[in-house]
Amino acid sequence: MIKIALIGCTGSIGRQVCEVVRAHPDRFCFSALVCGENAAELARLSEEFRPGLACLAGDVGDAEALFRGCDVAFIAAGGFAGLSYTLAAARTCKKIALANKESLVCGGELVMREVEKRQVDLVPVDSEHSALFRCLNFHRDAPYKKLVLTASGGPFLHRTEEELARVTAAEALCHPTWNMGAKITVDCATLLNKGYEVIEAKWLYRAELSQIEAVVHPESIVHSLVYFEDGAATAQLGYPDMKVPIQLALTYPDCLPCERELDLVALGALHFERLPVEKFPCFSLALEACRAGGTAPTLLNGAAEVAVRAFLDGRITFPQIAETVQETLSRVPQMPADRFQTLCEADRLARAAASRYIHGK
Ligand code: MG
Repeated sequence: MIKIALIGCTGSIGRQVCEVVRAHPDRFCFSALVCGENAAELARLSEEFRPGLACLAGDVGDAEALFRGCDVAFIAAGGFAGLSYTLAAARTCKKIALANKESLVCGGELVMREVEKRQVDLVPVDSEHSALFRCLNFHRDAPYKKLVLTASGGPFLHRTEEELARVTAAEALCHPTWNMGAKITVDCATLLNKGYEVIEAKWLYRAELSQIEAVVHPESIVHSLVYFEDGAATAQLGYPDMKVPIQLALTYPDCLPCERELDLVALGALHFERLPVEKFPCFSLALEACRAGGTAPTLLNGAAEVAVRAFLDGRITFPQIAETVQETLSRVPQMPADRFQTLCEADRLARAAASRYIHGK
């Protein structure tokens, strides 16, 4: 029986982790359930799953206590808030299933230092990184030449710049292939999400940025590819279903049955195209922040969290998301990211600067 401490149990990924546990009560149980603020849903899940501990994020206190006695820390909280849990889990338990990108985007240096020091088994849940993990035979340090991340391109892939200036939040929330939470769905539309995934891949697979490519693949069937020295590549294919990477993170190298088997003949064709980075500046901004290092990715993320909220509320336009991020990066000084407290301060400063910029519009 695998005991899971699930952080973010009422979000999009958290609910699917619950579905997996519900489907396999003989294999999985929860030692702890934590969510942001949905107390009613937390009470319902506690009644159903009877975890040893259940609480709202605001009542956690000592985060390390959540992970004592669990086999897997499943970090499915959204945004910068997930980082403190990932760090606490890295100090406390032997295995982390990571579904919070911001932990590596903002705190990659701190997280990887702790993971390597304590030999923690850090397993990606993001579908692209799970695909890479499988292509590398579940060895994050296996040799490869290049990593290729696929991107659906989001709902606005072929819009002109004039059209992008007029797109609405409702349109941005209609992702063509994946069903996810609001923040990440907008991040897919701006391609910020793909920029984050490049940074995630850099930390997880010790890649240089020059070794990571992103290509558009509108069908979301090929989830990513690993190229080897001889030019051959290995890809992972499947229908877009987060339960596949969720289950794999819990049971690898074994895997459990999932709902649908891939039917290539029914699909007929798969398509690939260049990522249109010039129309979606958030992708390049993420890579620039990664190159700058230190607190730059945390500033980028803090600004993006505020800007996406403002876009969803109808306070700024779609292109102004990237503008807000760029302005914040140019206004807030960057520092080395060697302490968690420094990152928290950078996050706070970025949110304040982004809010001021949006307010002044
Ligand atoms: Mg992904």
